[in-house]
Amino acid sequence: MTVDASQVSRYATRRGEVHVRAVEGPGEESPDVAGTGTLVLQVLGRRSGMPALDEPSSGYLVRAGDATLLLDCGPGVAGELRGALGGGELDGVFISHLHLDHCYDLIPIAKTLLSPHVSYPSHGREGLLTGPVPQVPCHLPADGVAAFRTVQELFPVRSSPPLDQAFDLVFRPVETAPGGSYAVGGATVTAVGLRHAVPVCGFRVASDAAASPTPATPAGPTR
Ligand SMILES: [Zn+2]
Repeated sequence: MTVDASQVSRYATRRGEVHVRAVEGPGEESPDVAGTGTLVLQVLGRRSGMPALDEPSSGYLVRAGDATLLLDCGPGVAGELRGALGGGELDGVFISHLHLDHCYDLIPIAKTLLSPHVSYPSHGREGLLTGPVPQVPCHLPADGVAAFRTVQELFPVRSSPPLDQAFDLVFRPVETAPGGSYAVGGATVTAVGLRHAVPVCGFRVASDAAASPTPATPAGPTR
């Protein structure tokens, strides 16, 4: 079973949920896989470059088998993600490259995921962790960890020290490289090198629930 990647690219130009259709063979389509849990793409945002009203930048939620993955998170995606997850868990994050329209919301997302594990301060007291924090693998280009730690340190949250460390507490960093393959839950994600002004990877997502490798991916970044 494979997925028609051209459909993904076409539908990924608008926001909303895409139930990717499975293709059994050349020219053949099986019924929509909606509800089978095989592979569903939800476009959280698709605007690149300058922000615009009610148009989040690049962000894609992929449900592959039992895994829920976030691909990129430009400005505006953190709020969309919170609504899309609806309290559900995120199993992995993949950042294509270190341009802000693809990664600006990573620290806000870390804080959102950390928030249920922090007690908020009463007057004169600091917020504290309430227990262990489950870590989400966060796949980044080289230099990504240093970049996000720098951002984290630039904007301390003095009233609640755990929020100072949101990136490190919530994410387990994994450095990506073209050709790399990364297993997350019931999915395997392969990084594909793309041409751009900086090092960049597109991501091909395969659901282990499919009978054979299942290539699909949001279109690679272009800006
Ligand atoms: Zn870019």
